[in-house]
Amino acid sequence: MYKRQVFKILILASVIASGAARCAAQDAIPAHAISIIPMERIFMPDHLYAGQAVDLDNPASYLYPEWSNEYVHKYQDVSLPDSVVISLKGYCMPTDSTRITDKYGYRPRRGRAHLGLDIKVRTGDTIRAAFDGKVRISRYERRGYGHYLVIRHPNGLETVYGHLSRKLVGENDIVHAGDPIGLGGSTGRSTGSHLHFETRILGNAVNPALMFDFPNQKVVTDYYVYQKNTREVYYKVRSGDTLSGIAIKNETSVSNICKLNGISRNAVLRIGQTLRVN
Ligand SMILES: [Zn+2]
Repeated sequence: MYKRQVFKILILASVIASGAARCAAQDAIPAHAISIIPMERIFMPDHLYAGQAVDLDNPASYLYPEWSNEYVHKYQDVSLPDSVVISLKGYCMPTDSTRITDKYGYRPRRGRAHLGLDIKVRTGDTIRAAFDGKVRISRYERRGYGHYLVIRHPNGLETVYGHLSRKLVGENDIVHAGDPIGLGGSTGRSTGSHLHFETRILGNAVNPALMFDFPNQKVVTDYYVYQKNTREVYYKVRSGDTLSGIAIKNETSVSNICKLNGISRNAVLRIGQTLRVN
């Protein structure tokens, strides 16, 4: 009886503290989720086994070689483990909006990759941190993300929040899951207010819909297994590039690039065009 009341009070206190964020429900662990790959090839940080406290000052230092505020994604020299297990426990949905307005994916015809998920929000709507973490970038990009944030989390993910009307946190700030970090908007290259939300692992974009189910306001799984050999790789065409040169640079073949992009061997490449190379 007494315990129950304390529990209720705790729940109430946490709802008030977080401004009624939807950050609670955690589904049961699907054991099969991590048993597909031989365990020795899976990269799983110690704290996932041991339940140790995580370091929010230098989150996921087991995966990222350094802490730098410079770039959104620049980890070309870092070798990826075969697989990385990302624990999604302790998540909070970044917005309570359930409406997806643009999916993640590659648009071969436009030569552009949309590396995030667009979720309808109104200007001024509260945007929340998806997990505990540390703000790595808090910046403005007129032609792209607009006002945007990049947060690195102890689970190995980095989350990106774009087109905000306002940022509520600064670089190197420590945040907790559910903390208000910005307000929805339409800054940068955007038509109509929405949240552009990305999930990245060592700079590699992963479809957020594989982890976050916005229509149902929950995560898809407790543990997301990222596999290096099935990841999508994109290349931005530079001056002087040829298809064969791009194939060599990316350790693939011209025919594979043609197949992935629905183009012919004689296709004319545009500078700045994005090609999928794996
Ligand atoms: Zn977008």
